[in-house]
Amino acid sequence: MKVMVTVKRVVDYNVKVRIATDGSDVDIANVKMSMNPFDEIAVEEAVRLKEQGKVTEIIAVTCGTAASQDVLRTAFAMGADRGILVTSQALLQPLGVAKILQALVVREAPQLVLMGKQAIDDDCNQTGQMLAGLLNWPQATFASKVDLQPDHALVTREVDGGLQTIAVQLPAIVTADLRLNEPRYVTLPNIMKAKKKDIESIEAESLGVDLAPRLQQLKVAEPAGRAAGVKLASVDELIEKLKNEAKVI
Ligand code: AMP
Repeated sequence: MKVMVTVKRVVDYNVKVRIATDGSDVDIANVKMSMNPFDEIAVEEAVRLKEQGKVTEIIAVTCGTAASQDVLRTAFAMGADRGILVTSQALLQPLGVAKILQALVVREAPQLVLMGKQAIDDDCNQTGQMLAGLLNWPQATFASKVDLQPDHALVTREVDGGLQTIAVQLPAIVTADLRLNEPRYVTLPNIMKAKKKDIESIEAESLGVDLAPRLQQLKVAEPAGRAAGVKLASVDELIEKLKNEAKVI
């Protein structure tokens, strides 16, 4: 079974992002970039499924600029077999990415597309759902367990207040939540091997899809600062403050 995994290059999750002085966007100049953490989980799941003998080929796909090659190399080092880089001059938004992925799915015919539940830069949580809609495929989002069978997958989903297990017919889209697995550390020999692998590069415009942005970012702002906390001497004092200062009881 062929599996496609999507990997996005985003600001590393350890970086404390700064906002550009004009408030137009986050400042990513000279900032460490990495594979989106939920995509790392998706790659790890694909590699585990291959190790279990359920998957024969893993194709990692990223959409962005030439710089996004590095996340494909990370995917190779984790165990992906092939890598496709889709470059675009246009600013890519979830619908545009979903349309690019749709064209690649039609070309590659995977039985399963594994994605992150959301990219930590835009926090959209839209691309997987849009791809499922465009392909008219079943989707299982927020997966915390995937039991892959030849013609269907049993997917446990993290929902409010518990877990839900659903069966989806293949081909399907599955998006990874945090507890699906713990991605492996990539070893130095695998990083070295990954550097030598070929990456197929495609210009998004050649796929004939409409990438026009549908969303306009108006402003980016820091969350409001919080006032410092205070230490109280007794429960009575706490109750008094909750009643008279916070007025919540
Ligand atoms: P989002 O809808 O932007 O929160 O992204 C959800 C998931 O879609 C991510 O975790 C990725 O797996 C995939 N995705 C989004 N944008 C890209 C991209 N530019 N390249 C590859 N995968 C992407």
